[in-house]
Amino acid sequence: MSAPYDIAVVGGGLAGASLACALADSGLSIALIEAAAFDAPTDDNMRARTTALAWGTRAMFDDLGLWGAMADDAAAITDLHVSQAGHFGRVTVAASEYGLPALGYVVPNVTMIEALRARLAELHHVDVIAPARFESLVTNDGTVTLQLAAGETSRTLDTRLVIGADGTHSAVRRALGIGAQVDDYEQSAIITIVEPERAHGGRAYERFLPDGPLAILPRTPDTCAAVWAVPTARAQALCETADERFTHEINAAFGHRLGRLRLAGPRGAYPLSRVLADRAVAHRAALIGNAGHALHPAAAQGFNLSIRDALALAATLTEQQQLRGAAFDPGAADVLAGWADKRRPDQHRVANFTDGIVRLFSNRIPLLGHVRGAGLFGLSLAPGVRADMARRSMGLALLEDMPRAASLQGAQSRQTR
Ligand SMILES: Cc1cc2nc3c(=O)[nH]c(=O)nc-3n(C[C@H](O)[C@H](O)[C@H](O)COP(=O)(O)OP(=O)(O)OC[C@H]3O[C@@H](n4cnc5c(N)ncnc54)[C@H](O)[C@@H]3O)c2cc1C
Repeated sequence: MSAPYDIAVVGGGLAGASLACALADSGLSIALIEAAAFDAPTDDNMRARTTALAWGTRAMFDDLGLWGAMADDAAAITDLHVSQAGHFGRVTVAASEYGLPALGYVVPNVTMIEALRARLAELHHVDVIAPARFESLVTNDGTVTLQLAAGETSRTLDTRLVIGADGTHSAVRRALGIGAQVDDYEQSAIITIVEPERAHGGRAYERFLPDGPLAILPRTPDTCAAVWAVPTARAQALCETADERFTHEINAAFGHRLGRLRLAGPRGAYPLSRVLADRAVAHRAALIGNAGHALHPAAAQGFNLSIRDALALAATLTEQQQLRGAAFDPGAADVLAGWADKRRPDQHRVANFTDGIVRLFSNRIPLLGHVRGAGLFGLSLAPGVRADMARRSMGLALLEDMPRAASLQGAQSRQTR
């Protein structure tokens, strides 16, 4: 019988692959199990997907030595413009106010995943097992046995710690018996690419409409990524309608801040719900990324939060291994509980903030009536709230528990005083 892996990460998406890369120097043996083939061709809808990375996330990719492979495809967000349909107010935040070159960057998902997978291929301590689907698990005293399936064949794999990084509908979470609070927003996000008549100049726009938020983000010098949340039935209709009709609708929703928007990519719709796992750890197991918390994309925080979980877990495991030496057990309950306790405040803050702004600005999602009625957009212009929004959108305020990013946090504190 072969020795168990120290860690088995189930899910080779952005969160799982980032964790495996962050464990590069730990010396721990790692299996990364992914249901899809790593060399499977990417379809056009996936190619249109982008992620807005906070400045802090870029710093983390820099630390991992991965930013170089992403930088050429990254579009800097130099300022942010937030508005609400039917109201004159707006909030603007500029990177220069913080002495930074950018608030964040918009990077195609394919670029990130290709950079992560290229790195994984170089790491001798990571065995990539793909395509292989996690099916079930049995926990023993010292190990967990995973049941995997690849086509007609199945196999087992033993590990001392299993990490569920298998997305919103996590099979690992279910197999561990961890429940989840699911709030269906009854919205879907339409993703596409548009070409504005006027140059975006690095400005990202978020427009809150009664149906849901519309984000227009810099993607290349000439194009923008559009992420438009609308009720699911409307999303389906908008994906199926003719290009001219869709172009008319998105222009009507966004207005003319960038002149006329021309459709320049395929359209895809992603159903949106908030899924919060009841707990992040179980016996010899932990959840990261969407498996632990799937959020509405309105505040562009899902992956930014996930990479903080992943890097904090890698840091905890590496540090504890150095402290405990040969006696180190990566599945030790106190190590996992320590990580979960440390991450909980950030997870709660970001999940509540994101859900709060979605409900605040959407007429169709329940919120206490008197709260919405009380001139809330005015409230968002209050200096304290505005500064808080700016800090969260950059992910800087939440870096204090990331040892390797501590110097950046120090720099930010000095600049904002
Ligand atoms: C429209 C939209 C826009 C977004 N924009 C942003 C943004 O701008 N900024 C931001 O920070 N976040 C954003 N997010 C959130 C972000 O995309 C997610 O937080 C992030 O992708 C989560 O990554 P993950 O690895 O946890 O999950 P996933 O990306 O879902 O990856 C899970 C992986 O697990 C694999 N898998 C699933 N089941 C199994 C199994 N049984 N066995 C083996 N493998 C399995 C899957 O194949 C997949 O590769 C957005 C989300 C949406 C929907």
